[in-house]
Amino acid sequence: MQREQKRDIKSMPLSQLEKELSDMGERPFRAKQIYRWMHVKLARGFDEMTDISKSLRERYRELYSYTCLEQVRMQESESDGTRKYLFRLPDGNLVESVWMRYRHGNSVCVSSQVGCRMGCRFCASTLDGLERNLLPSEMLDQVYAIQLSTGERVSNVVVMGTGEPLDNYDNLLTFLRMLTDGNGLNISQRNVTVSTCGLVPQMYRLADERLQITLALSLHAATDEKRRELMPVARRYSIGELMEACRYYFAQTGRRITFEYSLVGGVNDTDRDAEELSALAGPLGCHVNLIPVNPIEERNFVQSERARIRAFQNKLEKNKINGTIRREMGRDIDGACGQLRRRTMKAQEAPCSLQSIGGNDTC
Ligand code: SAH
Repeated sequence: MQREQKRDIKSMPLSQLEKELSDMGERPFRAKQIYRWMHVKLARGFDEMTDISKSLRERYRELYSYTCLEQVRMQESESDGTRKYLFRLPDGNLVESVWMRYRHGNSVCVSSQVGCRMGCRFCASTLDGLERNLLPSEMLDQVYAIQLSTGERVSNVVVMGTGEPLDNYDNLLTFLRMLTDGNGLNISQRNVTVSTCGLVPQMYRLADERLQITLALSLHAATDEKRRELMPVARRYSIGELMEACRYYFAQTGRRITFEYSLVGGVNDTDRDAEELSALAGPLGCHVNLIPVNPIEERNFVQSERARIRAFQNKLEKNKINGTIRREMGRDIDGACGQLRRRTMKAQEAPCSLQSIGGNDTC
């Protein structure tokens, strides 16, 4: 009960923390000192802030809650080293995040909500609906916990885990600003990607923020009819409206949109689909990410044959569309969005429950 009354100090941008502490009569350097502990040194609680007096730490503990995720599980792929983390939030909910090592640096895939209400047919994260939005601190802490766990700097962040980021707009924006703040982890905005199923009004809002992040649009079909079969959100916004929003985003930010296209065998993978997709991507100069659909047991979607995927990509290439086939990293570790979380929740409901391992109780 008390936790809910306390304000969440890790979700406060530096300017807010400065105001807050100066109103309390604190000395001017204090806010930066604490901000550094939280967002650069990645302290897991007030107790780690050793150059702050005990009595002051006690005072902060009384006033503020301090978000810190507890690692419940970690699975590492034997084939490519990708790691999937399952974290427990302070209220007991579970979220998953993924760590991937690329040649250009380490990337973390962050969840933005507990569950999701978008209902995309092929996605495991949405099967139980939306539980709640994540706070900025809870998104940041996925990155922090993983950086601490691997001991390696995270240079790229993709908001492509569970949840629809633009459905949690205000918290997402605070998260993005704090993640890329020079006083914090200082990740370059150009190394951050936000993926959306296409909430048009929020795409306009995001464009007006003029951030240098990449916006990825989960298109998955090039006609309204097909898109509506796969994604309920397509009943609300047409492809025409989406393309207009993409044009606006590019005009405002100078950043090209990426299209994400999950290839589902026999559903959206014909040459004709590739032609229609080219007609949308060409005028916008979009890059297309082709993702072989990751089958989930609750639905009977199947992956396209390898040869079909190649043929699809070739068609795009012929039309001068840049299309890459996403490497299926970590398929051996419940790779598809939301599968690790669901499996763990199911196991916990079962009589012989799967106990958490590797828990961290420092905060
Ligand atoms: N809500 C955001 C982020 C979701 S996950 C969005 O819709 O973009 C990131 C990407 O993975 C999205 O393109 C999503 O459609 C896709 N995805 C989800 N489940 C998938 C699956 N089982 N196989 C392939 N792609 C999937």
